[in-house]
Amino acid sequence: MKSPVQAGSARKLRIGWFTFTCSEDSSIVLVELMNRHYFEWKDRIDFAHVRILKSNNDMKNLDVAFVEGAISGKRDEENLKKVRENCKRLVAIGACAVTGLPAGQRNSFSPDQMEKIRPFLKLHRLNEKVEPVKKCVHVDAEVPGCPMDEKMFLAVLDRYFAEFGVGTRNAKQETGNAPGAA
Ligand code: SF4
Repeated sequence: MKSPVQAGSARKLRIGWFTFTCSEDSSIVLVELMNRHYFEWKDRIDFAHVRILKSNNDMKNLDVAFVEGAISGKRDEENLKKVRENCKRLVAIGACAVTGLPAGQRNSFSPDQMEKIRPFLKLHRLNEKVEPVKKCVHVDAEVPGCPMDEKMFLAVLDRYFAEFGVGTRNAKQETGNAPGAA
């Protein structure tokens, strides 16, 4: 007979990680967290679309999409809407996604400065204002920080493990504990 952990481990959380206008430091934090959580996550998370980890990605039917970066132009808007259509929950990751800053420095440019960069904005289909993710699509949760706050990210992950019926972690599988990990 299977233990509760074994029985629960069959259901994995299907996730995507998407990067928009930013420096991608929260992606680096995610990879760093794997030093401590890989052996737990490999049995509990289906990394369906995570370009920083692999080249064969599938964004369809995600449980949770994690979105880092601000939304700075038409291409970002279109891609973000596609992400929203393909996930049940969407989490804004890091200050740029949550507030639009610091990626959106041009939001405080003077009219003269804006005049100078306007041709480049037009050329690259960029908007005058850089916006947080929630201005473009519905956001279910936010993890602030620059880069993201690790404890808050792990808490959000735990919340979705519970919501989507992903089994209790097996502590013996972990090589260590991140700050804030249960
Ligand atoms: S929130 Fe900070 S660390 Fe994250 S992408 Fe923006 S500038 Fe970089």
